Amino acid sequence: MRGIAVQSGGMEESAAGPSAGLAGPGPLDVGAEAGAGLITEAVRLVVEHAKTVADGPVAPAEPGTDRIRDWLAAHDFAGPRPAGELLQEVTAALRRWGVHTTHPRYLGLFVPTPTWWGVAGELLAAGVNPQLAAYEHAPAAVEIERHVLRFLAARLGLPPAADGSFTTGGAEANLTAVVVALTRRFPAYPDDGLAALPGPPVLYASAESHLAWLKIAHTTGLGRRAVRLVPVDSAGRLDLVRLRELHDDDVAAGRVPFLLAGTAGTTAGGAVDPLPELARLAATWGLHFHVDAAWAGAVALSDRLRPLLDGVEHADSVTVDAHKWLSAPMGAGVFLTRHPDALADSFRVSTSYMPPDSDTTPDPYSTSVQWSRRFTGLKVFLALAAAGRDAFARQVERDTQLGTLLARRLTEDGWQRVNDTPLPVVCVADPQAEAGGPQHSAEWHAAVAAHVVRSGRAWVSRTRLNGRPAIRRCLTSHRTGPDDIEAVVAALSHARTATPYAAVQRDRAAPLP
Ligand SMILES: *Cc1c(COP(=O)(O)O)cnc(C)c1O
Repeated sequence: MRGIAVQSGGMEESAAGPSAGLAGPGPLDVGAEAGAGLITEAVRLVVEHAKTVADGPVAPAEPGTDRIRDWLAAHDFAGPRPAGELLQEVTAALRRWGVHTTHPRYLGLFVPTPTWWGVAGELLAAGVNPQLAAYEHAPAAVEIERHVLRFLAARLGLPPAADGSFTTGGAEANLTAVVVALTRRFPAYPDDGLAALPGPPVLYASAESHLAWLKIAHTTGLGRRAVRLVPVDSAGRLDLVRLRELHDDDVAAGRVPFLLAGTAGTTAGGAVDPLPELARLAATWGLHFHVDAAWAGAVALSDRLRPLLDGVEHADSVTVDAHKWLSAPMGAGVFLTRHPDALADSFRVSTSYMPPDSDTTPDPYSTSVQWSRRFTGLKVFLALAAAGRDAFARQVERDTQLGTLLARRLTEDGWQRVNDTPLPVVCVADPQAEAGGPQHSAEWHAAVAAHVVRSGRAWVSRTRLNGRPAIRRCLTSHRTGPDDIEAVVAALSHARTATPYAAVQRDRAAPLP
C-alpha cells in the first residue's frame, strides 16, 4: 500500500496540499516491533550457528559457485520477501558454502572466533549508528575509542601523548603509517607530493612481512619498487646485515629511505624481527620506525608474554589488529603513533559543512583515511571492559600453550618443525617429502593441506618459509582446546598416509642403473 501512496503522491503538489500521501510511515519504516522480531531471529540464527558449527565440517567440500549463483538469481529485488525467511536462507548459504572461521578446528589465518561481547558491540554500533567523523556528533563514541587506543598504547609502552585511530584492519593501519612517515620525513610531501622529494623514496620491511606493503606502495604513488623486502635469517627475522647493505646502497644511489617497518609476528611463521636493533638503526638513519604487530600485538595484554614485543615501545607507530588475536569481529584495526601532530597533519582538512573541531580531541575524520566511519571501537571496548585485561592475557597464554602442545604432538608424529617462534603458529614439513626435491615437496605439502581441508576435519594452510614448503596452523580461537589439537594431528596423519610420495614411487619404479 505504501508503494502505491508514493506513486500517487508524485513529485508535484496535488490539490490536497503538499503533504498529501506523506502521512504514515515511509516505505522502509516497518516499525520497531517488526525490527525486534527480525533481530531476535538473527540472534537465534547466530546462537544456533555457534552451538552447532563444531558438529559439521570446517570447510565445504566444494566452493559451490554455480549453485550459489543459481540461488542468488532468484533474488531479483523486484518485490518484497519475508525478511525472517531471508535471514534463514542467507545463514544456510553462509553455513553451507564457506569456511567456518568460528570452528574450533579452524587453525587457519588469524581469524579468531569473535567474543559475544564483540558481537553484541557490533549490533549496538549498527543500531545506534553514531557518526564517527566529527567529535561534535558523537563525543561519547569518540571518547570510548580514544580510551581504548590509550589503553593499548600504554600496554605497548608508548608515551601518554600517543594517539591513533581505529582502522578497517592492519592494511589500512600500515597505509596510515606510510602516510604519516612521509609527512614527518618530507616537509614538502603534504602539499607538493612525491614529486617534491629529493630522490626516489624507499621503505624497508622483511621478506616475511605482510605484503600489504606492496599494495600500499602502489596506492600511495611510491611504486612497488620502493619496497625493499629485506632477506630474513634462518629464524625468519629481518637480517640486519642485509638491511645495512641495502640501506647503504640506496643512500649511495641517491635514494631517500624514510621508513623502517619491523614485523612483530610474521604472518606465515610468527617471527618477531629484532625490534630494539631496528629502533636503533631507524634513529641513526633518521627513519620512521613502524612496528607491524597486527596479530601478535595482542600479547601486550599479558605481562608474561609482553617481553616478546620488547623494543616496540621505541616505535614511532604501531599496527595492532583487534580483529585478529583480540577476538573482535571483523573489521577492527588499530593504528597508534607517538606523534599525534604528524597524524593530524597527515589527514588535515577543513570544510564548511563539517561541525567545528572540539578543543580537546581532534575530529576522527581529520586523523584517518576514512571519513564517515562506523563505531569500530565499541566492540573492543565492551570486550575489554566486560572480560577484563586478565582474561585476554590468560587467553593468549592458553593459545600459546596449545601451540606448544601442537608442535610437540606433530614432532612426535614424525613432522619436522620449520618455524621458530614461541607464538602459536606451527609450521611443519615432512622430511620424506622434502627428500623428493623442492618441486615435489611443494606439491606434496599442498596436497596434504588440501586433503585435510577437503576432509572437513580441520582447516590448515600451506606456506613457504625461506622458500621451504610447509603446512601451517595457527591457534587463535578461544573455542580451540586440547581435543581439537589431537583431532588436527590425526587429520594430518590421515592425509599424509593418503598422499603418496611421488618421487619415492618414481625411484622405486625406475630401473636401477
Ligand atoms: C593480517 C596482517 C596484516 C593485514 O591486516 P588486515 O587486517 O588483514 O588488513 C598486516 N600485517 C600482518 C603482520 C598481518 O598478520
